[in-house]
Amino acid sequence: MKKQFAVIGLGRFGGSICKSLMNEGMDVLAIDQDEEKVNEFASIATQAVIADSTDEKALKSLGIRNFDHVVVAIGDNIQASILTTLILDEMKVKHITVKAQNDYHETVLNRIGAHEIVHPERDMGIRIAHNVVSDNVLDYLELSDEHSIVELAAGPTIDGKTIVDLDVRSTYGCNILAIKRNEELTVSPEPEVKLYEGDILIIIGADADISRLESYWI
Ligand code: ATP
Ligand code: ATP
Ligand code: CA
Repeated sequence: MKKQFAVIGLGRFGGSICKSLMNEGMDVLAIDQDEEKVNEFASIATQAVIADSTDEKALKSLGIRNFDHVVVAIGDNIQASILTTLILDEMKVKHITVKAQNDYHETVLNRIGAHEIVHPERDMGIRIAHNVVSDNVLDYLELSDEHSIVELAAGPTIDGKTIVDLDVRSTYGCNILAIKRNEELTVSPEPEVKLYEGDILIIIGADADISRLESYWI
């Protein structure tokens, strides 16, 4: 069965979520108080409606309670975001994801029943910083404060060596999850696999261990 999503706030973030959910084949109700935004999404979302989400009656008449997942993507108006979340929580919406504008906003959202809080500007900033600091780090996913999954471009030092030669796990405490070579992806590589310069290695480990490995492999 198709999941029913509602996205409140059709700025860049909410709009992008809406489009991606539609591409995944989901049902999406797009909501914004701005008529122009709603017109823009009329041809994109399953349904698009003009409504002020801080108006409890308006949300009720949309049957928002019956949706599987509601995303609150109101940006600058923190007050509206908080009030909307509060109303959704009172209506016992099953899953509420809210975009936080700053840490104070996040603290409040945590208290009032948001199930998931996202911080796209902050998280993307962290991610891009990792990518620009090192030429070898192509992508990066923070798993916890101390652990990450990174995509590293293999340098000349390891060219032609096998995973066993390098003894990656014992020496660096990191695991190679997969190797990307051209368009081919080898998941859970055998230890005898040879690595070549230009290979993209997907590695999981503690940040400190990844840094050590990175400085050796450049
Ligand atoms: P982004 O960074 O994702 O582009 P933004 O920071 O520009 O978003 P806003 O423009 O403040 O965020 O809000 C996103 C959308 O939310 C806007 O289109 C705005 O009309 C809508 N919005 C704000 N308050 C409400 C509300 N109470 N009810 C419905 N929609 C709202
Ligand atoms: P371990 O005791 O570390 O589990 P092992 O004795 O089972 O290793 P192999 O699995 O043959 O031996 O691997 C030999 C060495 O190659 C390991 O000690 C490890 O350092 C490294 N290695 C093998 N596979 C990986 C991997 N996917 N990522 C990182 N290192 C690996
Ligand atoms: Ca913004």
